[in-house]
Amino acid sequence: MPTIADSKLAFATVPHPAPTSASVREAVLAAPGFGTSFSDHMISIDWTEGQGWHNATLGPRGPIALDPAAAVLHYAQEIFEGLKAYAQAAPDGGTAGIALFRPEANAARFNASARRLAMPELPEALFVESVKRLVMADRDWLPGGEGASLYLRPFMIATEAFLGVRPAKAYKFLVIASPAGNYFKSGAPAVSIWVSPYTRAAPGGTGAAKCGGNYAASLVPQGEAMARGHDQVVFLDAAEHKWIEELGGMNLFFVFADGSMVTPALTGTILPGITRDSLLTLARDEGLTVREERYSIDQWREDAASGRLVETFACGTAAVVTPVGRVCSHDGEFTVGSGGPGQITQRLKERLVAIQRGAAPDPHGWVTRLA
Ligand SMILES: *Cc1c(COP(=O)(O)O)cnc(C)c1O
Repeated sequence: MPTIADSKLAFATVPHPAPTSASVREAVLAAPGFGTSFSDHMISIDWTEGQGWHNATLGPRGPIALDPAAAVLHYAQEIFEGLKAYAQAAPDGGTAGIALFRPEANAARFNASARRLAMPELPEALFVESVKRLVMADRDWLPGGEGASLYLRPFMIATEAFLGVRPAKAYKFLVIASPAGNYFKSGAPAVSIWVSPYTRAAPGGTGAAKCGGNYAASLVPQGEAMARGHDQVVFLDAAEHKWIEELGGMNLFFVFADGSMVTPALTGTILPGITRDSLLTLARDEGLTVREERYSIDQWREDAASGRLVETFACGTAAVVTPVGRVCSHDGEFTVGSGGPGQITQRLKERLVAIQRGAAPDPHGWVTRLA
């Protein structure tokens, strides 16, 4: 098990022998897309039974060698996180400095995922320090422009070469960074979603853990949605196939004409989003009534038709806040509100983004400035 001393691990720093040239990097940053290009460095820390966390390195990003019997390749013992470094707004309208948004929350959730996947926990301070070191080393990879950020992907894999089924005895924690523009390629004002006949997570399963296996299982449903011309899938609960859970990688909020909001409660089958939690807090700060409770697909359709429901949005680190417009299923389709971004959706998004960009006060202490 990790000890306090783990968080005082010394990092070895190995600079990239041939970093990307400024001109190539500038070309990448001019149109970063999402998840397709990567910075020059990465963090790597090993864990073995007996030694615990050791061998912390900030080094050149590159392929990692794995034994073909490495447990992650067979039984998917893998967890990950996603967070962003944001350029900070300067008073003159330009940018000055870089900040992370609630990295301790990602560290805590990473450990919750580790416990569910029978993996060793990483001291939270070591998680945060790893992310900070990578951002500072590769700060030139932070794109400028509206909605741009440096997306950080901490993850852990089971590296032990062993085909028996039990928790591995060796792991690797890595952090890589990817310059990110706007998440949805279409840049559409509202996404169209498909109500999936598949299930994402069942009670007692891994739905609340951020693990690759959940995503592997969501690819066929997501592919079907796209084949039907939609941007995303929405999953219903596994038991009754009636209660709305979340999208493949984003939580949902429903906004009513009376100004109140609902988001599905964290019942164990839903990923506890940090964006979700932040928006709950910001909405309550504004005096909005927000209920965490179940909401059914039939009620959603009925409320959209009657006008009781006026907005729906999805939220997550990658795409921030995204309005949901058209909803389709085997039973037919309906449109939420005007089909575009609603007022409350827009206001909450602006408030969140302003805090993340350092353009508004940070009353909850969510922003960690790095420089
Ligand atoms: C990561 C993730 C989210 C969003 O979480 P954030 O912390 O807000 O980025 C929502 N659903 C799933 C399935 C996820 O993996």
